[in-house]
Order: sequence, then C-alpha cells, then structure tokens
Amino acid sequence: MRHSGPLPHAIHRDIHRNCGQLSHGPADGENGPVNSESILRVALSTPLKRLFDYLPPAAGKGPVGRPGARVRVPFGRSTRIGVIAAVTAHSELPTEKLRRVSEVLDAQPVLNEEMLSLLQWAADYYQHPLGDVVATALPNALRQGKEPATASLRWVCTPEGKAADLDAISKRAPVQARILAAARQHPEGIGPADIDPPARSWRSAVQALADKGLLLSREGDLLAPSSTPATDGPALTTAQVEAVAAINAAEGFAPFLLEGVTGSGKTEVYLECIAAQLQAGRQSLVLVPEIGLTPQLVQRFRQRLGVPVALLHSGLADGERLRAWTAAARGEAAVIIGTRSAIFTPLERPGLLIVDEEHDTSLKQQDGFRYSARDLLVRRAQKLNVPVILGSATPALESIENARAGRYQRLLLPKRPGAAKAPAVRLVDLRRHAARDGLSEPLLGAIGQHLADDGQVLLYLNRRGYAPTLMCSNCGFVAECPRCDARMVVHRQRHRLACHHCGSERPAPDHCPDCSHALHPVGQGTERLEAALSERFPDHSLLRIDRDTTRRRGELEAQLERFRAGEVRILLGTQMLAKGHDFPDLTLVGVVDADQGLFGTDFRAGERLAQSIVQVAGRAGRADRPGEVLIQTAWPEHPLLTLLVEAGYGAFAEQALTERRDAAWPPYAFLAVLRAEAPERGAAFEFLEAAREMARDLDSTGVRFLGPAPAPMERRQGRFRAQLLLHADQRGALQRFLGPWRLALESLPAGRRARWSLDVDPAELF
Ligand code: ADP
Ligand code: ZN
Ligand code: ZN
Repeated sequence: MRHSGPLPHAIHRDIHRNCGQLSHGPADGENGPVNSESILRVALSTPLKRLFDYLPPAAGKGPVGRPGARVRVPFGRSTRIGVIAAVTAHSELPTEKLRRVSEVLDAQPVLNEEMLSLLQWAADYYQHPLGDVVATALPNALRQGKEPATASLRWVCTPEGKAADLDAISKRAPVQARILAAARQHPEGIGPADIDPPARSWRSAVQALADKGLLLSREGDLLAPSSTPATDGPALTTAQVEAVAAINAAEGFAPFLLEGVTGSGKTEVYLECIAAQLQAGRQSLVLVPEIGLTPQLVQRFRQRLGVPVALLHSGLADGERLRAWTAAARGEAAVIIGTRSAIFTPLERPGLLIVDEEHDTSLKQQDGFRYSARDLLVRRAQKLNVPVILGSATPALESIENARAGRYQRLLLPKRPGAAKAPAVRLVDLRRHAARDGLSEPLLGAIGQHLADDGQVLLYLNRRGYAPTLMCSNCGFVAECPRCDARMVVHRQRHRLACHHCGSERPAPDHCPDCSHALHPVGQGTERLEAALSERFPDHSLLRIDRDTTRRRGELEAQLERFRAGEVRILLGTQMLAKGHDFPDLTLVGVVDADQGLFGTDFRAGERLAQSIVQVAGRAGRADRPGEVLIQTAWPEHPLLTLLVEAGYGAFAEQALTERRDAAWPPYAFLAVLRAEAPERGAAFEFLEAAREMARDLDSTGVRFLGPAPAPMERRQGRFRAQLLLHADQRGALQRFLGPWRLALESLPAGRRARWSLDVDPAELF
C-alpha cells in the first residue's frame, strides 16, 4: 500500500497495519456468523482515496449504522472516528478479515442524504478522499465524536418584555434585568451563554421573567417571524423589483447572476428574496467572503428579517459552531450566513442559496480539500432543485461566461439608488508626476482638497510593511529570505525584516553585510505611506489597516467603526478595505499602485486587479456626496486600465473573455494542477515526471500536459516546488482522466519523497 506524500509516521504505520495485506486485519475475537451481515463502508480521514469496510458493531451495542452516521472504528492500533458512507451487502475483502465497528455514535445521522451525496460528488469532482472531505464539512466537535448539540432552549422577549421598565426591575432583581436586556438585543432568543458575565441564578431568573409574561421559551420551529417584527427596507428601485420578481418566480433550480455596481442594492434584493422564502417557511443560506462577514451585515439581516440568523465562520469556538450548525440542520435557524465552509451546512427546509461577492478568492479553499464554495453552491442548488443567486459588482469571468451562454440568468442593477452617483475615475501618470514615498502631487493635492471640504479619504495599497526591499546601493546586496526565493520586507516600526511567504523574521540590519555601506528601503508598503501622510497632513487623524494592525479579533471592526464615525479622516490599508464596507462621508479613493497586478504571471492577474480597483473605488461616494477615484500608474495607456476607467468592468470583462478564448484559458478550457514539493531539489520534479509518464498507461484523450515546471517561487519554506499543468477543452475529458490517474498516483514510489496535491479548477496557477 502506498500513499500520497510523506505522512506523519503514525498514520503511515496505521495504514499499513490496517490494510497492508489488503485487509483490515482479523476481527479480534468476534467470529460470530457474519456472512449475512451488512458491511459498513466508512469514510476515514486519510490521504488515500478509498473507503474502509467494517462489520457492524456487536449486536446490542448502540444504534444500527446508517449512512451519514458517525462511527468509532479500530484503525491499526488506534481508533478513529469516521462517517458511514454506504451500507452494502458485500466487501471485496473476505468477511472474516473485516474488523467490527466499535460503536455507532449517531442514531440520527449527522449528515443527511442530501449532504452525503453532495460530499460524495465533491470528493469525486475534486479528486479528494471522501473521509477528508467529510472532515472538512463537519464541525470540529462532531469530528471529535462529541454529541450533536441538543436542542437548546431559547428565550425571547415578549412585547410586554420590551415595554417593561428595566430600571425598576433592576432595583429588585438585577439578574432578571440583565437577562431581559440581553433578550431585547437578540431577536433570535438567548440561552445562558449569551449572558456576560454568566448568571448563576439563570434558571430561576428566567422562570420568574416567564411567569411575568416578559419572556417566552421557544423550542423547535423558530422560523415564524414572531419575536421581533421585521422592519421595512427602502422602496425598491425598478431594477431591484425586476430582479426580485425574477428570482421569486423561479421554480426549482435556477441560477441567477446578480450583477450590480457597488452600492446598487444587491443586499436589498437578497433580503426581499429571503423574506419571500420565510413566508413559505423555508431557509436561506448566504455565503459571504471572509472579510464581508461584518457585524453590520449580520445586524442588517437580523433587523430586517426579524428571525433567527445563524452565523458560521472560522472565528467561532467549537461549541458555538456546533450550535449554529445544529440550528440550521434542525430548521431552527431561518437564515444561515457564513464563510466558505458554511456551504456544508445541512438544511432542513432549503429554499434559497446565495453567494455574495461570488468572485472573491476566499471562496476557494487553497489547501487540503481544495474546493470552490461558489461552484459547489451552484451544484447544491441543482441537487436541491432550488434557486441560487451569485451576486457581485465584479463577477468572475467564469460566471459572466455562464450568463452569456444562457446557463445563468443575468440580472443587472446598473445604478445606485437615489442620489448616490458612481464616482469619477481618473488615472495619474507616474511618469509625468514623480511620486515621493509612493504619493504623486496630483494625489496629494486631491487628498488636501477633499480633507478641506470635510470629506474622508481612503488609500489602497496591497502591500504591508514599510518597504518590500532592503538594498545596498553600493554593491547591490538585497536582503533575502534564507528559506524562500523571496525578498525580506522591511518592517520599520518593529525594526525587523520579515518574509511574507514563510513568516521567518530577523532584526533589520542598518549596514550592508558585504560592504558595510548603509542599506536603503526601496519601494513602499502601507507603513511607509502612513509615515509620509502623517508628515504631510499632520492635522488630520490617520488610520492604517492591514494584517499588522489588526491581529487581534474584533480590532478591524473597531477601527473601521472609528472611520465610519468620522473620528478618523484618512484611512489607509490593504485588500482588507476593498470589500463590503459602507462609508457615507468617504469622497476620495486613491489606488496607490495599480501596476502591482498589471504584469502578473498568473493568467487571472488582470481580472484580479480590475476587481480590486473597482471594489475599492466603489467605497467612494456611496451616500449623497459625489466621489472621486485616482489611480496611480506608470502605464496609463495599458488597455486594461483605460478600458476599465473609460468603459467600466463590464467592458473590461468582455475584452478579457475574448483574450481568454484566443489563448484557450478558462472559462474556455479546464485546468488541473498537480503540485509537488520536497526538501531536496529534484524530488518534486521526479515525482511529476513519473506522474506524467504514468498517464501514458491511461486514457488521457483530450488532456494536454504542460510541464513539469518549477513553481515561479521555486523554493518556499525550505522546500523546492514544481507543478504539472493539465489542460483540456472539455470538462468531461479532464474528469474521465483524473479519477484513474489520482488513484494511480497513490502508488507511485516517487510520491514517497515528495508531498503532492491535486487542484481541480485551480484559482491560482502558482
Ligand atoms: P450592495 O449590496 O449592492 O453593495 P446595498 O444593498 O448594501 O448594496 O445598498 C447600498 C446602500 O443603498 C445601503 O445603504 C442600502 O440601504 C441603500 N439602498 C439599497 N436599495 C435602496 C433603495 N431601493 N432605495 C434607497 N436606498 C437603497
Ligand atoms: Zn553593499
Ligand atoms: Zn521565507
């Protein structure tokens, strides 16, 4: 038995133990009549793309195993938790060699039929072991074998509870007052965990409040919008009305591309459609990019819909996540909002699926089980036979092509509602206006003007640190990372050099190690911009936002709130600023360096650049103040930029699609990348060569191989990296080949000296 890449030793050994002789080892001392028994095919998280057969647990030991239920099984010398993928009559192994499941953990499967079949589909499509796919989909607590959260009793505030005099209650019963105050804040109801600090006398206090008719317990069906009435939104524009009507009229599976400029009211469309689902007693699932999941957004959903909203994101503690997941699975949460992995939330009464900012790269998982949450969401809608909305101001070229081909229905919101106007966009030619510390005179002039007019300013530079390079102008020395083919970034405040690829750091030297000359930081990052701006505009408060300034949880939100409140006049930062935020007084947006993405190596670099520029520009002038956007570039005649500025994202996308078609890149071709890395130079290459060689023995009709080639950054974290690109004109041809190939790769000897992964529909080629 071989495996994909070096494994932790213990896993390696276990796999050999468990199936080394193509068996699961003898069933210890359990030799009863087994022939008539069914076989449980269990998905376990291993690097092997296969299931593991077991016999049911000894009679009388817990519930019978059904697909979707978790089991504890012996595996090698240890035990593991897996999920039953199927129950069959036969195993390829002789029954007497099979071991027994030690215990079935769930009488009620944690994965329903729909979810199990989606995961199976995903495992096949993305060529990833089902056990690992299941592990990605399940909340941590369930993966570790914990009980699914029991229906938690929630308490909601009655109208009397809302009207009650808190101060008066507080004098006699402070704990009751605290609980009532919390219940008023949480229309979906509260439990003991929502009281901070925890109330010791929770139970008696809640009972007292219920006796007085101020609180009401709610168990089970929470879909009814009873606790807080939904508040009305603005009167919809004609375009919004049409979009809502089209979506609500959909019967069964219907994918919509909702394309609306930033601030055009896409979220209002979602809310209306979700409200219609609520009327019909159905749930809606909304995926948002990591950075789009702000408390404001959630608050907006809660207030407008007046129903329980479950939140699922990576920052949740295990218990919280389990509770939200369970609430969704039981149909208690009417609306589920979450980031990428929320795609795997089971729904009791699914009605509508939505993915906001569908172009966003955070929707694609880039390691382990590499999946696109957007693509899976569409697939899920199809299986569920429900409508799905893909919303964006800057849709992915794939989605635009799907709309052009008639596979998605395109809905347009061409304008912002009311007085809000699209901002005026201008290019600043850096060859004519030299920049100092990254800032040209026209941009500095505009900043001064907008500040004088009481506007707010946002500057976007997607590079943190002080400068990307530390250099000796005497001998040409450049500070590089010892473990990567990359330069060290200067962080001046911490007086350190840091590699942004592997995280290694060291003190920043003042002098050249080769010739002792003074070293100079070259180029600019957000830190340098911050220094230059505070020198130039000392009277205006300034805030820098990047990963260095927002390491603690909640910090980003707190900082953005200060800007929104007007306390801060200049906001400067990275990609973190580009999404979802609404700043009513923001009038000027400056894109400090548009050239970063102009000549990127990835075929998607241009698309990404256009999306960032349009998204960040969309932060300006959202209310009734006109906005202005300045883009600094040394290539003002670059067709990508001129098209974007003069004709907008739609025109850019048309042009970009023509180029993609000519070059036979996605969406007009289908890709997969086999990546490998190893500590020794050559080992990754050898594996990829062998993988390519092996393809000769298989049917690879319609698939072209490019490479193997070294990755553009060949060495990272001390490992040498290479890749083999697979290219096909038809998705089917690629899929037909990938399945058998992926299995064959598991047994390649060269795979033992390299860590490898297969990425289907890669978001990045490198
Ligand atoms: P998007 O999701 O496209 O960025 P939002 O739905 O967040 O846009 O709307 C942007 C702003 O415009 C919000 O403040 C929203 O309340 C407001 N808005 C949306 N639709 C309307 C409308 N029909 N009339 C007035 N204001 C609206
Ligand atoms: Zn030197
Ligand atoms: Zn490094």
